[in-house]
Amino acid sequence: MTTTLSAHPAESLADKGATVELVDVVKDYAGHRALTGVSLTMAPGEFIALLGPSGCGKTTVLRALSGLEQVNGGRILIDGVDVVNTPVNKRDIGMVFQSYSLFPHMTVLQNVEFGLQMRKVDAASRRLRANEALEMVGLGELGSRYAHQLSGGQQQRVALARALVTRPRVLLLDEPLSALDAKVRVQLRDEIRRIQTDLGITTLFVTHDQEEALAVADRVAVMNAGNIEQIGTPEELYLNPATSFVADFIGLSNQLDGELDTDTGTIAIYGHELSALGAGHAGGPVTAYVRPEDIELADDGIPGTVVSTSFLGSVRRTTVRLGDGTLVAVQHDVSARPQPGDGVHVRLKGRPASARPRAS
Ligand code: ATP
Repeated sequence: MTTTLSAHPAESLADKGATVELVDVVKDYAGHRALTGVSLTMAPGEFIALLGPSGCGKTTVLRALSGLEQVNGGRILIDGVDVVNTPVNKRDIGMVFQSYSLFPHMTVLQNVEFGLQMRKVDAASRRLRANEALEMVGLGELGSRYAHQLSGGQQQRVALARALVTRPRVLLLDEPLSALDAKVRVQLRDEIRRIQTDLGITTLFVTHDQEEALAVADRVAVMNAGNIEQIGTPEELYLNPATSFVADFIGLSNQLDGELDTDTGTIAIYGHELSALGAGHAGGPVTAYVRPEDIELADDGIPGTVVSTSFLGSVRRTTVRLGDGTLVAVQHDVSARPQPGDGVHVRLKGRPASARPRAS
């Protein structure tokens, strides 16, 4: 096999990403159903973030797709081929985990070469490809170091190079950034996205951090209790959450008492009428989810008292206690500087809101 060093390292590592399909995947752990019928289709080169609270089954989806975990039902197809009975090392998948998981007794270069060695790639090609992969993650100079001589961010870059060096058609990332500090996290997150886009590799990224998911993914799949509650672009999820769980989980929402009128498809909240998003349930008392940016400070409206206010850089967020004791977060221009104790009025801007039934 001949490998030539390309001008752009990503070019020679690139291969077309695969189509990935999970169809009704079920996974039981000793009587506990961790996945209740997960279905998900990923287009070639798509970057999907799997987002959800702890224990909802994100890692289990990833392990099922990789073959590290056998499923109890459903189908997993890579480019249309059912891989349910295909062993891990034959699924053509690269993986990066939360823990750095580098071999401590091997240099960086040897770590990256390892997967190629297992595939019996000759020494010269191995070295060339491992160097290309290290170049791609910005560590071309550090091939002779050992894991303990690297920062956490650098170790994760090596782990990424190691996952990509075999030119897999699917990349699985299980919370790869969670052990890193905030700044490195953002840097590496953006870099992963850049490399992924260059390579066109189909990628599933598990995270419980919604900001991270919304920032990098083409689409986000929100999981709850063993299944996918909604899948959509970051904008769709934020602006048009299909369920109250998604509305509550994505972004910050105020939870306000309202009355849903199913005839008009509106929710009445403190005398304001908002259109109801995805309310497939009966009318009556509901908890409505209203974003801080969908509420404003105004000259008249619902009276309340400022509890606290925080400067967030481009905007300010102020918490107001309404007459009935309800606390409302309002996002507004930094030029307004309400002080704790000030009497103010708040007004809903009239954007649609989602809701869930509330016991009256
Ligand atoms: P986290 O964000 O905390 O990592 P997660 O969404 O990735 O959570 P999973 O690790 O997929 O969740 O776990 C889903 C459910 O399956 C949980 O209730 C968990 O306790 C259970 N579970 C996971 N692995 C096993 C196992 N090996 N044996 C038994 N139960 C397991």
